[in-house]
Amino acid sequence: MSKIYRAELVGVFGCPIDENPTGVVMEAAFAKLGLNYRYITMLVEKNTLGDAIAGLKAMNFRGINLTIPHKVEVIKYLDELSHAAEIIGAVNTVVNKNGKLFGENTDGKGFITSLRKVDVDVAGKKIAVLGAGGAARAISVECALAGAKQITIANTTKEKGEEVVNLINQRTQAEAVFVFWDKPFIVPDDTDIFINATSVGLYPNVDESPNVEYNSVKSNMVVADVIFNDPNTIFLQEAANRGAKTVNGLGMLSSQAAMNFVLWTGKDAPIDLMEQVLKEEFGLT
Ligand code: NDP
Repeated sequence: MSKIYRAELVGVFGCPIDENPTGVVMEAAFAKLGLNYRYITMLVEKNTLGDAIAGLKAMNFRGINLTIPHKVEVIKYLDELSHAAEIIGAVNTVVNKNGKLFGENTDGKGFITSLRKVDVDVAGKKIAVLGAGGAARAISVECALAGAKQITIANTTKEKGEEVVNLINQRTQAEAVFVFWDKPFIVPDDTDIFINATSVGLYPNVDESPNVEYNSVKSNMVVADVIFNDPNTIFLQEAANRGAKTVNGLGMLSSQAAMNFVLWTGKDAPIDLMEQVLKEEFGLT
């Protein structure tokens, strides 16, 4: 009888990366299903991504996650992109299909799943998004593809905000509007879902919050933050104080990790366990 000792390898390339908790979540999920997979958290600097991708192919990795600063740069090394990843112009997950590298973006899909978990559907909704970086782009495009009616993008760098707005107007059915964010953002009255997709409030700057006129947040709005470290952001606290329903960034993180698990293993992800492990990592249980 022969026994298989070789593990299937996946992981993440990023810089900085030391505080990324995804490995703990994925390893717990692999153990739960008895899969001999290893998720390795790797420091890959900006100018060595090409070497890292060559190494990934040489060592027969099943796939890889990409985080800052590699999500856009990685595209030139890939053989195929999903429809959404192609529109977004960024990839956070690569699947190695017999030597051919397929790029997907599960950031926005994970965000939409985290809203669905609290019975919020983006279809037909008016959405306001703070930010126009990688996370904002993925969320806005996926919301548009999922049937959002209107998306307002507020950003402090005009060109980046306008680029996302043009992308949505040209490539999806949703209507997008740009707001130059140079003073406290006033949330339009008819907004259904208000999202912070900037990095403001991310650890260690947990005392910071986006420049918003918080009295314009209404109790009938759903307010979501992409920040997961620490998940109880001032942005969400301000919204909760005005009676809004709030959704933190942990749901997005665990939902996209679950999607990546399915892409790599072909098996259903133990999502409840993954959420639980993530909460434990942040001392929320
Ligand atoms: P990027 O660097 O691509 O974009 C950052 C965005 O934040 C830009 O729009 C930038 O504006 C804006 N911004 C930064 N500082 C300020 C400020 N002081 N005031 C106003 N706007 C500001 O980062 P990402 O989009 O990749 O990541 C954003 C956040 O999302 C990170 O905190 C990351 O951890 C989180 N994230 C969470 C995930 C999850 O699963 N929960 C998944 C992916 C990311 P400008 O364009 O003007 O520079």
